[in-house]
Amino acid sequence: TGSHSTGSHSTGSHSIRIVGAREHNLKDVTLDIPKNTLTVFTGVSGSGKSSLVFDTLAVEAQRQLNATFGWYIRNQLPKYERPDADAIDHLSTPVVVDQKPVGGNSRSTVGTMTDVHSMIRALFARHGTPSEGLVSRFSFNDPKGMCPECEGLGQVRRIDPDRVVDRTKSLDEGAILVPWYRVGSPEWQLYATSGRLDPAKPLAQYTPDEWHTLLHGSGGPKVKVSTKNSSLQLNYEGLVDRVTRLNVKRDVSTMSEKNQAAVAAFLVEQLCPACDGARLNPAALATRIDGRSIADWARMEIGDLIGVLARIDDPAAAPLAGAARTALERIAEIGLGYLSLDRATGTLSGGEGQRLKLVRHLGSTLTGMTYFFDEPSTGLHPRDVGRVGSLLRALRDQGNTVLVVEHDPDVIALADHVVDVGPGAGVNGGEIVFRGTYEELRAADTLTGRGLRAAAVARTRFREPRGKLPVENAALHNLKDVSVVFPTGVLTVVTGVAGSGKSSLASGAFMERYPDAVYVDQSPIAASSRSTPATYLGLMDPLRKLFAKANGVAPGLFSANSAGACEDCQGRGAVITEVAYMDPVTTHCETCDGRRFKESVLAHRLRGKSVADVLEMSAREAAGYFEERALREKATALVDVGLGYLSLGQSLSTLSGGERQRIKLAVQLNRSGSVYVLDEPTTGLHMSDVATLVTLLDRLVDRGNTVIVVEHNLDVVKEADWIIDLGPDGGKGGGEIVFTGTPSELLAVHGSLTGEHLRRHLG
Ligand code: ADP
Ligand code: ADP
Ligand code: ZN
Ligand code: ZN
Repeated sequence: TGSHSTGSHSTGSHSIRIVGAREHNLKDVTLDIPKNTLTVFTGVSGSGKSSLVFDTLAVEAQRQLNATFGWYIRNQLPKYERPDADAIDHLSTPVVVDQKPVGGNSRSTVGTMTDVHSMIRALFARHGTPSEGLVSRFSFNDPKGMCPECEGLGQVRRIDPDRVVDRTKSLDEGAILVPWYRVGSPEWQLYATSGRLDPAKPLAQYTPDEWHTLLHGSGGPKVKVSTKNSSLQLNYEGLVDRVTRLNVKRDVSTMSEKNQAAVAAFLVEQLCPACDGARLNPAALATRIDGRSIADWARMEIGDLIGVLARIDDPAAAPLAGAARTALERIAEIGLGYLSLDRATGTLSGGEGQRLKLVRHLGSTLTGMTYFFDEPSTGLHPRDVGRVGSLLRALRDQGNTVLVVEHDPDVIALADHVVDVGPGAGVNGGEIVFRGTYEELRAADTLTGRGLRAAAVARTRFREPRGKLPVENAALHNLKDVSVVFPTGVLTVVTGVAGSGKSSLASGAFMERYPDAVYVDQSPIAASSRSTPATYLGLMDPLRKLFAKANGVAPGLFSANSAGACEDCQGRGAVITEVAYMDPVTTHCETCDGRRFKESVLAHRLRGKSVADVLEMSAREAAGYFEERALREKATALVDVGLGYLSLGQSLSTLSGGERQRIKLAVQLNRSGSVYVLDEPTTGLHMSDVATLVTLLDRLVDRGNTVIVVEHNLDVVKEADWIIDLGPDGGKGGGEIVFTGTPSELLAVHGSLTGEHLRRHLG
């Protein structure tokens, strides 16, 4: 099927043509990508794959698409700047399926996101008993269907009495913890001087009646309270009810931030007592199909719900039930059958979210689109990678062009056409080093070709544990009361298919039991828009001092938010212009040419370089440039975690999830005696980078740390000292420990999926 031999100068609409692409590190890349094929982009991390596929092709396709709309609609859409390239032709309508968190508010669920919820609502409306006729009655996002108590959220926020009072104290001693109810205040007088309660009695000694009066009492004579200059009469109202009415149910934006934070500290979120989390009102919940309400359906695992739908034999209902079933089968096929429709999308992992987005498009009959995927194998056990591969092919077979950035050899093998970007990362990358078939790539002399040929070698010696970190009776999410011991002083890898409970065990239950452990994940780094690797690693202060000392000036001059900053862009390197009715437009600052500092500051040099020159250096260059040990070590730490290609001054907001995780690791490298938990650290890593990562993990262990990694990458699994394998399947079919032991022992047991795949991997 592959038309991989398209000449590099062919035009016409059979291929997408890029000429002279220069985004980030791309070196005038000129390339044809055959349409209606599955093209996989490979290359080491930082080689320029995303710069080419997402920042050039996808951005240009979205920009061209937006340009086809009228002015009014265009202003509602995100703005795309034209990517730096001489020409990009023959793009088609883009669909970007990335790993950005699905997010969404608490009203967004797996069911609403995939549209299956609306099919099921229609089914209940027309075929439920008693029949209700109206579809919106089953929508928790519609006033006609929602539970009035929680307004369709399934959860309510209530005041936790134990957080608003200190039972060991009396009212006189300040038992009420709400800051504006302090002793002497009018609010405090309502309780302490109303005659209803003894202000000297510790709350712990209250009778149930007194307790009720304090928290929920009402009625009776008004209470006279004195304020600074006058006095007023207040209705008596229990503390919990009063704070709820005045501070919780009120529009919080009208409260000071300090008070909002104080109130938030009194609240607990719990299942709505009226609907028990079902989100719907009693009328909607009374309607049933197959003895179950729509909320029961939403709570079931998708795999089980398919069975319920299959049992519907009413011919009138069959078409709708069949459509819902097909949609659910697609979800189950990509290994997400363990999810339920009522799962809030905000709790999904990046990989789960991306696969759900993928399903949404499979139902589409649109053709001629260009799909963009970012490492769709993320989060998948080798068992399930093949299924994602078939879905990508199915999209292609529907007449679409499918572009995928991927590191997994099993996905690369499915490509009609592979584009390998390299040869290295950052300034050493940005070129197309190979294009052709997978078979040709395996023979190619590139890092990817070599990686694909390299034989995986099994280890035979394993570190001896120094101690034990037991986790007992863990029951979080799907965990079935598991007890397991994490050995210390070794590298432990937690394996299992997606949804088997790896994260629930290693980041949930384990971290709860051992809160001092360091969790290194891929979440964004809470930092300002000015944060860079240099600020994150603490390089800026010593660097400013060095420049100041060498030039006999004040260190403050070398800060991009000080007097030394370029005045036209305030040290941002870019000018942000507000345009009426439009999003602000960001343009390159001409005055400093993006260098952020005044000319006079840039004239100050340290070993021939200006401060802007240093910030433009990659971490690897900087490690060579710094002669000062502390600075060199920090730059080297970035190299050690595989981020040697990052420039010191690059905004942290441009980093991918995997890069963020590795930079977090970089600041930890010199610690010892710690316990680290890492969730899928190979995300975004090329085969050759995985070796670097393993070296790094080994180094952490050798320094006396304990390292626990959730990972499905077999090149990491084989390097473990100890494996904890969860399964046997995902969701309620998982949550058990199916194996613990060394990789050699895993290879010897039969019946473990992970073992089977490891055996194949080791050939
Ligand atoms: P890959 O996708 O192959 O891992 P990228 O395309 O993300 O590589 O990165 C290629 C190079 O461009 C790297 O040196 C990276 O640091 C740099 N880069 C990526 N995004 C940005 C950005 N928004 N601004 C500046 N440099 C960037
Ligand atoms: P793994 O890490 O092996 O992919 P997880 O620990 O993420 O598995 O998930 C195990 C089970 O727990 C799955 O059934 C999943 O749907 C469920 N689960 C995970 N996170 C949440 C959550 N935040 N809320 C509800 N269920 C969850
Ligand atoms: Zn409710
Ligand atoms: Zn400027």
